[in-house]
Amino acid sequence: MKRDYYEVLEVDKGVGEADLKKAYRKMAMKFHPDKNPGDKVAEDKFKEAAEAYSILSDSQKRAQYDQFGHAATDGGAGGFGGGFGGFADFDLSDALRTFMEGFGSSSFDDFFGGGGGHRRRRGGDMKATLQLSLEEVAEGVTKTIKVKRMDGCDSCGGTGGESGAMPSRCTVCNGSGQVRQISRSLFGQFVNVGECSNCGGTGEVISKPCRKCAGDGRAKKTAEIKVKVPAGVAAGNYMTLRGEGNAGPRGTERGDLVVFFDEIEHKFFTRHGEDIITEVEISFSQAALGDKIEVPTLKGMVNLTIPPGIQSGQVLRMRSKGLGELRGGKRGDQLVKIQVSTPTKLNSSMKKLFEQLASVNGAKRKSTVRKVNF
Ligand SMILES: [Zn+2]
Ligand SMILES: [Zn+2]
Repeated sequence: MKRDYYEVLEVDKGVGEADLKKAYRKMAMKFHPDKNPGDKVAEDKFKEAAEAYSILSDSQKRAQYDQFGHAATDGGAGGFGGGFGGFADFDLSDALRTFMEGFGSSSFDDFFGGGGGHRRRRGGDMKATLQLSLEEVAEGVTKTIKVKRMDGCDSCGGTGGESGAMPSRCTVCNGSGQVRQISRSLFGQFVNVGECSNCGGTGEVISKPCRKCAGDGRAKKTAEIKVKVPAGVAAGNYMTLRGEGNAGPRGTERGDLVVFFDEIEHKFFTRHGEDIITEVEISFSQAALGDKIEVPTLKGMVNLTIPPGIQSGQVLRMRSKGLGELRGGKRGDQLVKIQVSTPTKLNSSMKKLFEQLASVNGAKRKSTVRKVNF
């Protein structure tokens, strides 16, 4: 004997659309098969609620049900059975479809954001910082970094079971790794999804845990990881090495290792994008006469020609002596700012020479006045 639809959903005959949906949601959540695996009574109640909702949420069907009761849906009695054909056999797939139409998902897990039904945990992500010299940034480099991370336990081979015992499905959460609790408050109904304490969220339990790792399947180890750094990276850039983070419990997926780059301050060079800048101090005579000097580059000492008559503050550009561009484009330059130093201490012979120079330039001291533009 079928129960009254209003009674099934515990609502009044005059219930509005919103309250009807709320009532159905409450019932569906309580009896959803994902939450009550293998429970036949719950499944029947889930189907019953879905059937009731599918009729009452449709204004035309609801009107007929209000007038004729179950006879309207049973197909046969009451004289208009043809109109409702199919509702007599409301099965689980119909019920799940109703649930999906009502709430956008047929799965309890999807609906509550719990992920897949057999969620397995994953190892944690890790962060590391890699210090790079400008020389390394210029060409790109492969470096090895040492990280302390969770790796598979040697004793049990990562299974977590003593002498290779395999884990079995957790009976508390039925392998999902999660437990849900529905709580009600003034603001409505809340579903709390928490990690199953029986299996620690893995969905599996081990009857005889490994003595070394206590069933976790992991141990902390130092690993050496090769990082291939492309040319042109800058401080703050990072690289994600998939699957190089911590191992997951009992052989589950590894987390990632995120490597952040940092630049070691250079003795001579300041970086400006792909260019590098340095300053060279030369003497009066070098500036006036010109010279060939040696300057450092990222690849060792190189000759630089100082043209005669260079002014203090002038910048010489050494093409392609900068950093490689990150996206493989052209190489930057090295900029050399010339600083002409004025001697602060003159011996008598130097003083004499400068005085001679001054007299050649003209007896009167010449100076040019200019407006300063900022
Ligand atoms: Zn172990
Ligand atoms: Zn569990």
